[in-house]
Amino acid sequence: MVMGPTHAMSGAAVGLAVAQILPAEWGGVTTSTEAFVYAGLAAGAALLPDLDSPSATVSRSFGPFTQAISRFTENTCQAFVNMTRGRKDKRCNNGHRTLTHTVWSALASGAGATALISYFGKPAVIALLFFFLGLAIRGLLPEWSKNADWLLVTGASAALALGVWNYAPESSFGIILGSAITVGSLTHLAGDMATKAGIPAFAPLVPLKGKRWWNLKLPKALSIRADGPADKFLLFVFSVAVIIQIGLVASGNMSAIMMDLLSLGR
Ligand SMILES: [Zn+2]
Repeated sequence: MVMGPTHAMSGAAVGLAVAQILPAEWGGVTTSTEAFVYAGLAAGAALLPDLDSPSATVSRSFGPFTQAISRFTENTCQAFVNMTRGRKDKRCNNGHRTLTHTVWSALASGAGATALISYFGKPAVIALLFFFLGLAIRGLLPEWSKNADWLLVTGASAALALGVWNYAPESSFGIILGSAITVGSLTHLAGDMATKAGIPAFAPLVPLKGKRWWNLKLPKALSIRADGPADKFLLFVFSVAVIIQIGLVASGNMSAIMMDLLSLGR
């Protein structure tokens, strides 16, 4: 799946589930509102890896600002691949689906967010909430945000960020917010891995047959076309999952279900 809304909805679905099993030492997600905020952050972060493509939802989110960041990201990724490629890798002419589509970059973006918060405190939290909840609005409400001016969407993101900041306790940020970003990014990677092209999940650290930028993908029979009917179907499945989970979280039953699932696995 490559389309923004599908990525965002899958991030929300995974975020709602993961919110229930976060370690208490991280500050934990204790209320249903916190679980929804966590899922919102994961939904926004599930768009982040496509910052390497100027036409992606994330790159159009905050108008000229994200467009400029996106062009910079694409060029930097392209240069990075050419610097690190193995003897059998082709020269890279387009940075899309390279560095930002690795597990290292998913881990680094979460760790980076946590580091920003521990260094700058409150202003960093507000900035991150603003950015990622803004992405979530773009991804989860594509029709509305397509018709609305990007400035209006930006205003809505700012209002949402301030609202969340005023509501949520300080203890639930830091590692928690960083983990939501990593969870969302990893969900994006799982989605792209299901497409025919796959993603260089472990590049450039894990070489394969002389290639450092080889793509990890599913067997042909299981892979889907990025913009085909399978993408629409997955969007539908994730939307239903999110609606059911919202009901379970709001009624307080979600965490018991996740705990049961975890104990089954042991
Ligand atoms: Zn992608």
